[in-house]
Amino acid sequence: MNVVVCVKQIPDPAAPPALDPGTNNLSRTGKLILDESDSYGVEMALQLVDAAGSGEVTLVSMAPNGETSGLRTALAMGAARAILVSDDALSGSDALGTAKVLAAAIKRAEPDLVLAATESSDGYTGTTPVQIAELLGLPSVTFAKKVEVTGDSVSVERQTEAGYDEVQCPLPAVVTVTAGVVEPRYPSFKGIMAAKSKPVDTLTVADLGIDAGQVGAAGARQEITGVSAAEERGSGEIVVDEGDAHERIIQFLEQLKVL
Ligand SMILES: Cc1cc2nc3c(=O)[nH]c(=O)nc-3n(C[C@H](O)[C@H](O)[C@H](O)COP(=O)(O)OP(=O)(O)OC[C@H]3O[C@@H](n4cnc5c(N)ncnc54)[C@H](O)[C@@H]3O)c2cc1C
Repeated sequence: MNVVVCVKQIPDPAAPPALDPGTNNLSRTGKLILDESDSYGVEMALQLVDAAGSGEVTLVSMAPNGETSGLRTALAMGAARAILVSDDALSGSDALGTAKVLAAAIKRAEPDLVLAATESSDGYTGTTPVQIAELLGLPSVTFAKKVEVTGDSVSVERQTEAGYDEVQCPLPAVVTVTAGVVEPRYPSFKGIMAAKSKPVDTLTVADLGIDAGQVGAAGARQEITGVSAAEERGSGEIVVDEGDAHERIIQFLEQLKVL
């Protein structure tokens, strides 16, 4: 079974974020890392291919400046190869533009299953994978907390507010996984060394046969009109127990309508 995993490479969330000068876009000029959200999809894919007994895991990513640092981490976990789409024409791509590019790259890999995270850690619109499914004409199942493949179909436990739904759909399909679907492995030293020589196909927009006017800033239908700092968290209220702490906490929770 061949599984494609969408892997977003993002600026290190531990570093202070910066904007590209004169724009409201997050600067992605420095080193990018594997989005932790995608490490779950990589692990899930590796386990599914192991269980099937044959096939391989291919990573697909769109990132600027030929960036492969995040891909190498996922290759070190055990993925066999990667397809990277990197092109100056992609600068300013919105979610639909990104989905068009990823869909075209995924098509080349002819996968039985496509995995992605439910949302990325930096943009987190959570819309890219379902747009990819629509563009490829594939069924999609979102918020998977358990994924099993049997023959030509995939069974998913789909997280809901009340618990989970059991969903089955034919392959090929696009499935988005939640954090917690599996525990991602740490790359071993051997894995890190092996990842250095694994193939990464770097493609341009033209290689994918995409019209440059459909992607990048030229094709974007979304615009980031402003960016402001998130409100800082207040210090909270300390309840000192003078015999009535339980009543005050209950009162507080009732005000919040938690009780
Ligand atoms: C006007 C505008 C301009 C922008 N300009 C830029 C820009 O110049 N450069 C830039 O990098 N971003 C840019 N962005 C952000 C970019 O559009 C989003 O990062 C992208 O659309 C993905 O959306 P998301 O992060 O919300 O992904 P989500 O939909 O939250 O992602 C869900 C999952 O889809 C997969 N996925 C998403 N994106 C990728 C990817 N790139 N590669 C592989 N897998 C992926 C991952 O599995 C991810 O966890 C711009 C956005 C807007 C609105």
